[in-house]
Amino acid sequence: DGMRRQIVAANWKMNGSSELVQQLVPAVREAVSALDNGPQVVIMPPSLYLGEVKAQLADSSISIGVQNVAQWQSGAYTGEIAAAMAADAGCQYVLVGHSERRELFGETDEVVAAKVSRILASGLQAMVCVGETLEERDSGDAEAVVCRQLEGALAGVSADEAVNIVIAYEPVWAIGTGKTATAEDAQAMHQAIRDKLVGLGLPGNAMSVLYGGSVKPDNAAALFMKPDIDGGLIGGASLKAEDFIAICQAVS
Ligand code: PEP
Repeated sequence: DGMRRQIVAANWKMNGSSELVQQLVPAVREAVSALDNGPQVVIMPPSLYLGEVKAQLADSSISIGVQNVAQWQSGAYTGEIAAAMAADAGCQYVLVGHSERRELFGETDEVVAAKVSRILASGLQAMVCVGETLEERDSGDAEAVVCRQLEGALAGVSADEAVNIVIAYEPVWAIGTGKTATAEDAQAMHQAIRDKLVGLGLPGNAMSVLYGGSVKPDNAAALFMKPDIDGGLIGGASLKAEDFIAICQAVS
């Protein structure tokens, strides 16, 4: 939908190096600057590379973000980084509730909600990930699971704050597997997500809802064409300049 912000976000996960930053970011920058009516592009490298990525993006329209922040404000939390630090370092976005964080680091909906509140309090955009497992989809629970995650993650969010929330629907079975939801299935879930947001008192029809899960150059356009899909969250394909650029170009 032309009224909503179209976004293509790169989640590098725990991949990359200075060398990748130097090689990939300038190429993406140049290609994105040539787009008419292109999406808001967001690059989320491992936090250690933020400064280098930012330096490559001076005076560019591309935003940067981190893949996680702590649920605490500051203090004795060895190894963690705070939302306020992400803001201080020049980020506009923070990814939160990614399925890898939920599965591997035990992040509950309550933890996700606490992080969302820190992110908003720091003046940043929270990119909130939701999505069902294959087992949950096969047993017909996909929508219920996603709705429960939305309700949990957005528990303290007001309608005014929702302008700083982006939802990323990422079916867990599609992440890093090469399996993508069909554009039709993704569209149906995106519509359900909007209805749920409205049910929570949030402006669901004005909020960007991204699809993530094995988005590649050859399936991006079909997904992005759907009326309720406002762009993508890209993992594996964001590490290859050519692929990531092609995906950015698929947003019109
Ligand atoms: C992700 O991790 O957010 C993701 C969508 O990964 P991939 O594109 O590799 O499936």
